[in-house]
Amino acid sequence: MGTQIVWFRNDLRLSDQAAVRAAAAAGPVVALFILDDAAPGEWAVGAAQRWWLHYSLTALAADLTRIGGRLVLRRGSTADVVADVAAVTGATAVHALHHYEPWAKSQQAAVARAIDLILHDGAYLTAPGTVTTGSGGQYRIFTPFWNALLRTMPPGDPYPAPMIRFASPPTGDDLSDWNLLPTDPDWSGGFDVWTPGEAGAHAALTEFAAKVADYDVGRNLPGRALTSRLSPHLHHGEISPAQVWAVLDGAAGGDALPYLREIGWRDFAANLVSQFADFAEEPNRPAFARFPFRNAPADLAAWQRGQTGYPIVDAGMRQLWATGWMHNRVRMIVASFLVKHLLIDWRAGERWFWNTLVDADLGNNALGWQWVMGSGVDSSPFIRIFAPVGQSRKFDAAGVYLRRWLPELEKLPDDAIHAPWEAAPMVLAAAGVRLGKDYPAPIVDHAAARARALESYAAIR
Ligand SMILES: Cc1cc2nc3c(=O)[nH]c(=O)nc-3n(C[C@H](O)[C@H](O)[C@H](O)COP(=O)(O)OP(=O)(O)OC[C@H]3O[C@@H](n4cnc5c(N)ncnc54)[C@H](O)[C@@H]3O)c2cc1C
Repeated sequence: MGTQIVWFRNDLRLSDQAAVRAAAAAGPVVALFILDDAAPGEWAVGAAQRWWLHYSLTALAADLTRIGGRLVLRRGSTADVVADVAAVTGATAVHALHHYEPWAKSQQAAVARAIDLILHDGAYLTAPGTVTTGSGGQYRIFTPFWNALLRTMPPGDPYPAPMIRFASPPTGDDLSDWNLLPTDPDWSGGFDVWTPGEAGAHAALTEFAAKVADYDVGRNLPGRALTSRLSPHLHHGEISPAQVWAVLDGAAGGDALPYLREIGWRDFAANLVSQFADFAEEPNRPAFARFPFRNAPADLAAWQRGQTGYPIVDAGMRQLWATGWMHNRVRMIVASFLVKHLLIDWRAGERWFWNTLVDADLGNNALGWQWVMGSGVDSSPFIRIFAPVGQSRKFDAAGVYLRRWLPELEKLPDDAIHAPWEAAPMVLAAAGVRLGKDYPAPIVDHAAARARALESYAAIR
């Protein structure tokens, strides 16, 4: 059999990887990763994710070296690179996992014009488009989608990395020449909480398996580490959803279902991206095209920097900047604050997240933003405006999360830390907080912002 190319993308693992397994069974293998910044256009890999990619590729390259292979790195137009690598190595086929972003589909089509491209499933619990309604249509609402998906579960048993015979690899780039890591300034100091790569993904899963029974309640508490933090590993495909399912379903019996449902949201997002080519750019509900957003660059900058004067919002935005990740409950709060309190276009928030999240994912990110905006297919018709102070008191009552990310408020007592502007001057003074100097005064008044948001939503009814 001829040489087979494994074209890696967001599937940077060797176990339970159908493209790797099929290629290894068919002939000698060339392992290829292409950095193609032109194809995704405005959705080229974001800054925080480039950091992740650097270390994930380092880990995959080391895993391949350990079994006698080499990861070939090339930069440029994907179809051209594939054609070149095929010509040099005599490869007869390319294997890859199927991806569903609009630009990934075009890229797949371009590669398929140049060589035999065999696409495999495995990035999701079920291949997008295959869980359908009784009449064969696509689901637009999560719960019925999930119920239908559940009827097809469990996924197939995950399998280990296959034995691979490697073909003589063509020349490739040095990873360091891609300059994926930030310099001048290097803002990645706080990213050392992560271990990108397949081994790091499995270590995170093992750690989480011990506490999955606490997930249903604990997932709402940003001060506690009770979510899996698997999102960047799943996004980069360092672990498959089937592997996650197999470990957790076995580990906790029925207790894991609330967690596995969240993995189902990831499948749902991929279905929406596959169904609606402009899902990340346009509101699903057409009326939202008329929404009276404000152009408010100073407010946007205050939000981005964690300087809004609302501690829960600022803590979230600073966690994001420092570590490339934010707790889901806080993502909902900061997103709601941007679009409802500040009336800033959800796409500005989506963009900021795209560049700052290590788990930035076209589908999950757009789904989150459209859901908060209320413009998505699955959004409730009523307007829900998160009250940042109420959310903060409810989910971080003792201010653990706030104190971790806002050291300037550390000494405020629990009942004052959620809304420092309401604290008595003596309380502020005793904690060493001068509002407007050490920590900003709120950039909007909650009641006024709420009324303005309600008016804006009424305007597009
Ligand atoms: C405005 C907004 C933007 C978001 N942007 C992203 C993004 O770019 N990438 C991303 O992976 N998630 C995104 N999410 C969803 C969610 O916040 C993260 O997946 C989660 O916080 C990741 O942490 P975890 O792995 O500990 O999650 P866990 O609670 O442990 O969940 C397990 C896994 O399920 C998936 N998941 C969980 N919640 C969701 C969800 N609401 N939608 C889709 N998948 C989900 C993720 O793959 C996650 O790793 C966003 C949510 C909001 C509200």
